[in-house]
Amino acid sequence: MHAVIIAVGDELTSGAVVDTNSAYLAARLGELGIETVRHETVGDDVPALIEAISRAAAQAELVIITGGLGPTPDDLTRQALASALGTKLVEDPRQARRIEEFFSRRGRQMKPSNRAQALVPRGAEAIDNDCGTAPGLTATVGKARLFVLPGPPHEMRQMFTLRVLPELSAETALATRLVHTFGAGESDVAEAIADLMDRRANPRLGTTAQAGVVTVRITARGPDAQAAERLAEKTAELVRARLGELAFGADGETLPAVVGSLLRSAGQTLAVAESCTGGLLGALLTETPGASEYFLGGVVAYANEAKACLLDVPQEMLLAHGAVSEPVAEHMAAGARRCFGAEWGIGLTGIAGPTGGSKEKPLGLVYIAVAGPRAGAVHRHVFPGTREVVRRRAALAALNHLRLALKRP
Ligand code: AMP
Ligand code: MG
Repeated sequence: MHAVIIAVGDELTSGAVVDTNSAYLAARLGELGIETVRHETVGDDVPALIEAISRAAAQAELVIITGGLGPTPDDLTRQALASALGTKLVEDPRQARRIEEFFSRRGRQMKPSNRAQALVPRGAEAIDNDCGTAPGLTATVGKARLFVLPGPPHEMRQMFTLRVLPELSAETALATRLVHTFGAGESDVAEAIADLMDRRANPRLGTTAQAGVVTVRITARGPDAQAAERLAEKTAELVRARLGELAFGADGETLPAVVGSLLRSAGQTLAVAESCTGGLLGALLTETPGASEYFLGGVVAYANEAKACLLDVPQEMLLAHGAVSEPVAEHMAAGARRCFGAEWGIGLTGIAGPTGGSKEKPLGLVYIAVAGPRAGAVHRHVFPGTREVVRRRAALAALNHLRLALKRP
């Protein structure tokens, strides 16, 4: 949706008062995904106002006017709107009562000029003013929806927030898409889509990070649900294209589920051998219903003896390189494959901390080996964080390495 904002008043055109209403309104509309295409400032002059109203109504679906609703003879927006609509001003009895009450509550006498504020162009509707006398006005001019709000900034803000915003929000439908990534930091992801992240743009994009999964959230607005959905989907495709291999899934998809469906569609199976994650990888894989179709099982080989006896990791290798090493991870992956007769094997060994680190083998060091039908690879990581974070990161990174290996031709 597009908007034109018109600020009315000789004090504005003369430069005596700076127009802050338009900036406020444009920013608030931007938050709703409504783009303001033009600001116009017009003096208190009926012909100039009529012209501005019809020009704006031809240009945008939404026109917001502030100012010129006061009780004095120079406040002419009401008359101008009546002329633009080709109708006459008639008194709105409800507003007349409200203005009377406004004065009687304050023990003051209502002047006839105040009563004029209850005049509403036929075909337009009054909007209650919760902190002043002048009601706002709303009408349809051509194809445009038009709102007239009082000039004093506090009254304008209050009326916009309480009376206009709910209507505009109801008119714009919302659609959300999530694009999940793994393998890059939040700032790298944000940088890759920086040009799409303008806070006032529609759709609006933001990022969140949790346990190494960086998610791009896309919120699109449109005149109806279908339009919002289309815009959200189109943007999600663009984001996925930008992020390439980093993007692993959408909306409710998780890394274990995505890996599972890749294995299922390849008709292949997986087995794992875990040390420092102590079964976490197996737990993640079995979160997904139907995992038995592709996940055969896992070995938690924590002690060196378990690695040697269950996975055939040579004792000499464990002594020469240590349990946390590239060749041991490789042998664990191969051992898991062999042991379960699976096409794919993952071997994972590391130092989760908080103790046990050294200069060569720092805390958070994790080796992840992926062995497949064609070949294998070992990846070295140093994850920052607590024991819990390192373990979770390691398990997810293992799934991500397998995902990438499964996608390679
Ligand atoms: P009006 O409703 O036109 O009588 O405006 C009343 C007062 O509100 C003016 O005298 C200004 O001080 C203030 N005002 C009106 N329009 C604006 C605007 N666009 N930006 C900031 N202040 C405004
Ligand atoms: Mg004025």
